[in-house]
Amino acid sequence: MAKLHSIETMGLVDGPGIRTVFFLSGCPLRCVFCHNPDTQSLDYGRDVTVEEIVKRALRMKPYFKNGGGVTLSGGEPLASGAFVLETIRALHKEAIHVAVDTSGVGDEKYYDDIAREADLILLDIKHYDPYFFYEITKNYQDKLIKFMESIKKTDTRVWIRHVMMPFVTDTKEDMDGLVDFIRPIKANIDKIEILPYHKLGVCKYADLGKPYRIKNMEAMDKDKAKNFEIYANNMLKSL
Ligand code: SF4
Repeated sequence: MAKLHSIETMGLVDGPGIRTVFFLSGCPLRCVFCHNPDTQSLDYGRDVTVEEIVKRALRMKPYFKNGGGVTLSGGEPLASGAFVLETIRALHKEAIHVAVDTSGVGDEKYYDDIAREADLILLDIKHYDPYFFYEITKNYQDKLIKFMESIKKTDTRVWIRHVMMPFVTDTKEDMDGLVDFIRPIKANIDKIEILPYHKLGVCKYADLGKPYRIKNMEAMDKDKAKNFEIYANNMLKSL
């Protein structure tokens, strides 16, 4: 059993093909740019079982052509490690591709099994530098590094994701630092996606009565982020 926040039935960005995305509630991080703050707490979810996820996924299976499938997202799916592992195994019995969308900070007991058994990991790197990682997430990098060690032992495919914030992570040096940080798992990585910071989730903070810590930050220029994405992917290829 886990807590389910919401479901997106025809997701197109969280992995290959058409995907059913299950957003699980609960996250140990508190990212300054989180656009789903209502997924951080377990208070905003309802109970969900592995059987329900499989049943819903099977209903959508005709759409899972061209590599589509299920993405387990959050919140932070690794915070519900036992449930996620059980769900991956149950979906594989139905020949459904499973991606896990994670920051790498969760229940370490399940890291090795999830890293090995997921078909794809969307690994969101909040910052390569420990100081800024803490400033952004109010948490430490050690669990993320452990999850990367689990990934390194496998041949599981990884897409790196990184939110680019203006004047915080939008320089060539930042891209060099990011690529250097992910170097240990370079053999697993297919690509890097640079996600420009946007302000779409800001209104949710007022609804939840939570402060939005970066209210003065402008949205990231999308073209600039795209150019840095090309740069980072070229750097990755040259490793
Ligand atoms: S890891 Fe994701 S869900 Fe958790 S606080 Fe950060 S952005 Fe929000």
